[in-house]
Formats: sequence, structure tokens, C-alpha cells
Amino acid sequence: MRSKLREKCGIFAVFGKDFKAARLVHPGLWALQHRGQESSGIAASDGKKLRFKKGPGLVAHVYSEEDLKKLTGHLAIGQNRYSTSGDFFDAHAQPIIAKINNKKSIALAHNGNLPSVEKIKNFLDKKSISTKGLNDSDMMTQIISYFVKGNNSLEKAIGKSWPYFTGSFCILAMDEKKIVAARDRCGIRPLCIGKLNSGYIFASESCALDIIGAKFLREVKPGEMVVVDEKGIRSIQVEKGDQKLDVFEFVYFARPDSIILGKSVDQIRQNLGKQLAKEHTVKGDLVIPVPDSAIPAAIGFSRQSQIPYYPGIIKNRYVHRTFISPEEHTRDRIVQLKLNPMKHILKNKRIIVVDDSIVRGTTCRQIIKMVRDGGAKSVHLMISSPPVRFPDFYGINTPNQKELIASYKSHGAIAKEIGVDSLHYLSYKGLIQAIGLPESKLCMSCFTGKYPIDIGERSKEINFHPSYAKI
Ligand code: AMP
Repeated sequence: MRSKLREKCGIFAVFGKDFKAARLVHPGLWALQHRGQESSGIAASDGKKLRFKKGPGLVAHVYSEEDLKKLTGHLAIGQNRYSTSGDFFDAHAQPIIAKINNKKSIALAHNGNLPSVEKIKNFLDKKSISTKGLNDSDMMTQIISYFVKGNNSLEKAIGKSWPYFTGSFCILAMDEKKIVAARDRCGIRPLCIGKLNSGYIFASESCALDIIGAKFLREVKPGEMVVVDEKGIRSIQVEKGDQKLDVFEFVYFARPDSIILGKSVDQIRQNLGKQLAKEHTVKGDLVIPVPDSAIPAAIGFSRQSQIPYYPGIIKNRYVHRTFISPEEHTRDRIVQLKLNPMKHILKNKRIIVVDDSIVRGTTCRQIIKMVRDGGAKSVHLMISSPPVRFPDFYGINTPNQKELIASYKSHGAIAKEIGVDSLHYLSYKGLIQAIGLPESKLCMSCFTGKYPIDIGERSKEINFHPSYAKI
């Protein structure tokens, strides 16, 4: 079960002596809803007592006015959780709370994933701390609390636990008095720091700073720990950083209005679309995006190819992401609930559909059928990233390799299965060029199978097929 519980999440924290911190974490989590819709939680403290509220569902559903009133105090952390598992376990909602003693607790919110939990599990086993039913984030909380119980400050405890965090992590931890933010040495997931009056904010993405009127200060550096308490803010570089941001943040996951590594996510996506049009010439009458994530790429594609853009598929914004549902038939039905093509726009036209990625191939098959049923004369599919052939171990829920369509089907077979007249991917080189950052600063593992943080025993799950070199 644990291997299914890989999650990619949104985390947010506020420390400010004049703030009602939970009142700011709440809208922050709202802005990060795209990073997780399974559950949400906030832990807050007034300097003396740590209180929390967490539960399944969207931010809009989890907190009542009463809950927010009870979450008093000037420091708070929060998390939206996203999981691949069909069975939702309330017990896995975050922040995870651990009681240290009658007076002291800690709370932890994690974005990322430890592909191998062997090292941390062995440590806890040796200390006779039960790991039964615990996932990676639970174990991280257990080891931190072990060191806090040994009379270490929260930051010291995190520093001592650090060698056991064998994977990708952005964490926000708090006790009654302070918040500690930390990022793994590769900075696989994004995490930034903002300032609001004299207070400090941490957020997975800068779009969440904007929503509360905070100013972007900088990103938490890979390998860095940042402590905020009544004395102010201080940085501890725990290990040497080697930035490798997951490229999928730019391709799909992050919000377009976020800035990551100094780059506008929206601008990058437009560039991906432009580059795609430079690499492939297709005759068409109309460019339509798969909403919402492919909109900037479709605009870029249209501008470069001079083929008119029109949002010909309408999205019901109140049905959330299909990826969560693991059974294929449920996913199919949700696509129809969520998307509806406008027949009067598509009829008798050569339609170029732009999407950001193909993972399993299920969603785009449905969308292409919709476009055909809507009366399109021909349908061409342009993908603004290369084929995804390798699973993710760092916190995105891309499934195991067997489910990734490009890992077991040829280009032609994928086009046939999806039902398009032609299918084109952005090249690997074109992707790097359009992003405008050195390849060495990115984690490209979903395209290359090269994992910058050791994936331990999970490497046995990876196959390199000779045909991969061809596309
Ligand atoms: P699929 O039907 O599995 O090929 O789904 C691909 C679609 O899901 C693309 O249109 C993306 O916009 C979206 N997508 C890609 N990666 C993820 C992910 N990790 N989580 C949720 N959705 C994703």
C-alpha cells in the first residue's frame, strides 16, 4: 500500500507576531489547491499551545468558520495532500502531529516522496519505534520527534534526521514557538519565502504569496533549512545544494502565475508551444488547448504557426482533477463530466489539439474522441513535452512504468490508440531550450530514467527499452 501513497502536495506557512496566522494560511492553501485535493490541514500555535484541524476534501470543504476561529496564534503551517491511492485514508492527512510531552508537540507538512524508506525505517526499528502503517512523511515526523525528545531544538532535530530523509522533500515543521522550512539537496519540489509586513511566509509556489499580498523574497535553497521564530529569520545550509527542479513543475504541475527559478511558468509554457510549432509543421484550421494546463502552450503554438487559437473545449471548473481516480472506467467518465467540446467551433475543421503531456493516454483518447464526435474533419495532437517513459519517485503520482503508454507502445501505436491523424511530441532538446535553464538545473527523470536522488530498491522497477532512443 505504501508505494501507492506517493504524493505531490502544496505547503504553506506563516509566522508574524501581529498575524492571525491560520487566517492567512487558509487562503494560501486555497491558492495551492491545484497541488492536492485529497485532504487539507492547518496547525497553528499562539506560542503556548499547538492546535490543528485536518480532513478529507478541498480547502473549501475542510474548514468551517468555527475551525478557523479556534486555530489561534501567530504561527501556522498547512498542507493540501494529493495521493494516487483510490482509498483515502483520513489518517494520512497532514500536517502530521506528534506529541513530545504534555506541554510540547510538533507538526510536519511534507511535499515530496522518499522512494526508499529502508534507512529511516531501520533507525526507527532500532529505537523500538513502531513503523506499522506509517508512510514516509509519518516516519519523518517520528524521527524528528525522537530527536526533539532527546532535548534538541526543532532545527537541530531536523538536522540530525536529515541523513535519513532519503528522497525528495520540502518540509514545513513547527512547534509551539517556531517554524522550520527545509528543502532536499536537489530542490526537486519548489519552495519559496515571502515577506508580509514584519512576518515571513513559506509557500510551495509564489502564486500563493500573491494572494495574501506578500512579497517574494527568495526560494529556499536546495539543502537549506530556514528557521523563523521571535528572534527573526536565519538560514542553515545543511548540505551542499545541487539544484534539480522537477521539469514537470514547468510542464504541467505548477500554476502559470507562479515564478520558479526566476522564470514565469506561463512564459515557459508559451515557449514550449512555440518550440513545438517550430519543430513540426501541421496543416490545420484551428489550435485548441486541452484546458486548463495546456492553454499557454496552445497560445504559443498558435502564435508561432499563425494558425488561429480558440478554446474549443469548455471545462467545468468545479470538477477536480481526473488523475486522482485510479480505475480507468471512472477516469473516462470524469473526463466527460469535466470537458465539453463546442461543436459549432469544431465542425468540418482540421483541428490541432495541444496538450502538455501524455501519461497513461486515457484522458487524451477521450478528448480526441470528443473532438471527432464534435464534427472535426481531422485531429492532430501536439504534446508540449517529450514522451513520459519513466515513473516518478519524488512526489508526483505518475504511475508505475507499466502504465505509462510511451514506455510500452511505439509512436505509431500511440497515435492509433489515441485515434489521431498525427501525433507530435516536443523534442528533449527543444524542451530544455524553451525552458531557458541549463539542463543540469532540472530533474528530467520522467523522460530519461536518470534519477538525481538515489531511488534505492525502487531502481529494480525501471526498464530501459532499446526503442526508447528512437522518439
Ligand atoms: P493521461 O490520460 O494519463 O495521459 O493524462 C495526461 C493528462 O493528465 C495531461 O493532459 C496532463 O495535463 C495531466 N497530467 C500529467 N501529469 C499529471 C500528474 N502527475 N497528475 C495529474 N495530472 C497529470
